[in-house]
Amino acid sequence: MKNMLKLFLSVAGSFIIILFGVDVQNVQVHAMVPEEMTPLLKSKENQKIAYLTFDDGPSLNTMEILDILDRYHVKATFFVKGNEEPYAKECYQEMISRGHAIALHSYTHDYSIVYRSTESFFQDLNRLETMLQKEYGIKSRIVRLPGGSNNRLRHQAATKPIINGILQQLKEKGYIYIDWSIDSTDGFSPSIREQQIITAVQKGTKNQKHVNILLHDINSMKNTVEALPDIIEFLKKEGYTFDTIDETTPKMQFN
Ligand SMILES: [Zn+2]
Repeated sequence: MKNMLKLFLSVAGSFIIILFGVDVQNVQVHAMVPEEMTPLLKSKENQKIAYLTFDDGPSLNTMEILDILDRYHVKATFFVKGNEEPYAKECYQEMISRGHAIALHSYTHDYSIVYRSTESFFQDLNRLETMLQKEYGIKSRIVRLPGGSNNRLRHQAATKPIINGILQQLKEKGYIYIDWSIDSTDGFSPSIREQQIITAVQKGTKNQKHVNILLHDINSMKNTVEALPDIIEFLKKEGYTFDTIDETTPKMQFN
């Protein structure tokens, strides 16, 4: 009986909207929200969230980075390369067992291979995917292009169509590419001082609720490791919680 009443009220409500045009615009806009955003995403809308992302690892710094993250109970996303050194195998395993997200970057990270052609890009990417899946059981659809989706090759006549083709095909094949919203500048050079990295992050967070921070996991970039505790402490003090990137994360794309 209750169900019948509910049905009647819902049908009657629709008639009222059709007959009197009650705020149809609002009804439509409201109706779009649940389809486009999962409840989880919606609940995160007003939170301050920081996504720490580390590119190019594993490296000889990975374990130290993981220990720092553990110390602060923070989870991060690692956009990894293909590294088959024995130490690297342990790093991939530790990333997983300590609850971090592993996403795709590039097997070789060699621009002359990765960006030679659209086909070459996917060969390199598939090589990384195969290694991760076979060795570690990891399957990810999240990709960060070496240099980002708006890298210097995108502004050169010869390579622009290749990058555009890659972005198009990533979409068609069901990948999600993710850039960043804050460049910590640690990747500019190993001589970038620890304080500059911290300051770049602090400035980048100004008035930003969701921040996706680009950091590097590279042997020579020891200053990233040195800066990391201060970066995390700053973000916590500013009220950010930390999350990893997956398919439900709002896309952060330059294009
Ligand atoms: Zn990279």
